[in-house]
Amino acid sequence: MTILVTNDDGILAKGLRVLAEVASEFGEVTVVAPQVERSGISHAITLSEPLRLSKLEADCCGEWFALSGTPADCVFIGIHHVLGRKPDLVLSGINRGPNLGYDVLYSGTVGGAMEAVIQGVPSVALSLVCKGSYPFEEMKPHVRAFLAEVTKGGLEPGLLLNVNMPSPEIAPFKGFKITKIGRRFYSNDIVVRKDPRGNEYLWIGGTRVTMEDDPGSDCGAVKRGFISITPIVPDVFAPWAIEGLRRFEGLRPLEAPFSVGKFKSVRGEIWKSAKD
Ligand code: MN
Repeated sequence: MTILVTNDDGILAKGLRVLAEVASEFGEVTVVAPQVERSGISHAITLSEPLRLSKLEADCCGEWFALSGTPADCVFIGIHHVLGRKPDLVLSGINRGPNLGYDVLYSGTVGGAMEAVIQGVPSVALSLVCKGSYPFEEMKPHVRAFLAEVTKGGLEPGLLLNVNMPSPEIAPFKGFKITKIGRRFYSNDIVVRKDPRGNEYLWIGGTRVTMEDDPGSDCGAVKRGFISITPIVPDVFAPWAIEGLRRFEGLRPLEAPFSVGKFKSVRGEIWKSAKD
C-alpha cells in the first residue's frame, strides 16, 4: 500500500511526524508537506510563483519532501511528480487544533485531503482538539486503530473522512462516532495594533468559540469524548435552490437608464461611470 502524507502546519510539525510514523506501519509512506505553516489556506493552489521541492534527510518512515507551496500543491506534486502515480491513500495532519464545523472550508489540512479526492484518491484529514500542549504521541493507538480499519475495509473513491480527535483533557475517550458537520462560530473581534514603523495592522482569527450542542455533530461528539469521523465530498452544488432561481433565465440585455455617478478613489482620482 502506498500512502502520501501531508499537512498544513508545515514539514517540521510534530503531528505530521506522528501521522507518518503510524502510517508507515500500514504501507510505503511518502511525505510531501509545506516548507512553512499554511494553516487557513484552504484548497488554494499556487499558479503565479515557482514551487521549490527539497528532499530531506529523513530518519524515519519513508521519503520526506518539503514544498514551497500549499497542502493542495503538496498533494498534486506528490501524486504527479514525486510518486508519478496515484497512491492508495492520502493522509493530511495531524493538525494542531480542531477542524470542526465550517473550519473545513478554511482548513489547509482539509484542503490537501480534498485535492486528493479530486485526483481520485480517497483521503483522510486528521486533527487534534486540545486546550494546552498537544499530546500527539498519546493519540497513536487511536490513529493506529482507525488506519487499521481504513486499510482493511478500504474507502469509497471520491470520499474524504474528516477526523477530529479530542485530547484526554477535553474529555475521556468514549469511542469513534460517525457525525455530521456541526455549527461552530468564532468571535468576530479584530485586533488593531501598530507595527514598529508606526503603521496600523489588523489581526483576525477570533479566539472565543461558541457552538451548537448537537450530539450528532462533529462538535458535539468531540466535546463528549468521541473521535468524530465526518464524511465530506467536494460537491458544493445546491439543488434545492434551482427552482427558485428560474426567474434569472428570463433576463434580456438592459441599457443603463441613468448614470451610476462618480467615485472618488482613496488616492483622490475621480472615477466616472461610462455614461458620463
Ligand atoms: Mn494547521
